[in-house]
Order: sequence, then C-alpha cells, then structure tokens
Amino acid sequence: MFRVFLKVNDTCPHCGEDLHHHRADDFPAYLVIVIVGHILVPIILVVETEIAPAIWVSMTLWPSLALAMTLGLLQPVKGAVVAIQWFGGMHGFENAKKARARRRERRLTRAFSFSRPNPSAPASPPAARRSSNPPSKSGSEWWRRAPWWSHR
Ligand SMILES: [Zn+2]
Repeated sequence: MFRVFLKVNDTCPHCGEDLHHHRADDFPAYLVIVIVGHILVPIILVVETEIAPAIWVSMTLWPSLALAMTLGLLQPVKGAVVAIQWFGGMHGFENAKKARARRRERRLTRAFSFSRPNPSAPASPPAARRSSNPPSKSGSEWWRRAPWWSHR
C-alpha cells in the first residue's frame, strides 16, 4: 500500500485498486498524537511519582519512547484512515464503492438465479390459480434489489 514510509501508492500493487483518491491529510498524525498521549501520559505520571528516576533518565527515556511509538503507529494508522475512506466511498472513492455494490448485486442475482422463471415451464399458470393468488408488486423479487446499505 505504501511506496515509501507514508507515501500511499497510486494504485494497489496486488489488485490495481485506485488509492490516489485518499485525503488522509493530517488526520493520521492527529490520531497518533491522541493515542500516544493517552498511553504515555499516565505511564509518565505513575513512573515520575512512584519511582522518580534521575532527570537525565526522564529526559532521554520519555522523548525516545514517544518517538518510537509515533514512528511505529504512523503507518498503520494512516493505512486505517485510507481504508475507512475507501470503505465509506469518501472523496474520489465513490465510484469504487458503487462498483463494489454492483458486483455484489450481480453475485446475489447469480446466487438466486434458481428463482428465475423456468423457460420450459408453461407460459402462464392456470387461470383459477392466477385469480386467487395475484402476484404482489411490492414484495416480489426483493432479493434482486441492492441491499439497503448500498442505496444512497
Ligand atoms: Zn489491493
């Protein structure tokens, strides 16, 4: 997904999915600050009050720990942000999401194709049965429609 540390590939090298639509911007960095802060600040408070290490230990340990956590988290968090934008069809990912919905609909239609009318069967059912049991318009073939989450 990444061609350099935080440079997202224009397309997925595995499946060719367009990734250049992402607008991650500063959000991954903001999330990493929130995560690292919430993990590190309580640890620092406890260690500094309970153990109170020498000042040079504090001044080297905490910045290097913060740096290591930040560098370790930036790439996965950015990947997750791009994935959320892709999944939600945000920005330029809209067409990719519609294409996924169309593929899913085609799969569903194929999976339920046994319910299509049999061409070798008689053209119309007996008249008596047809009049007593009219086909319902609204409830018919609901499975052919796209699922509710793909409607806009
Ligand atoms: Zn891919």
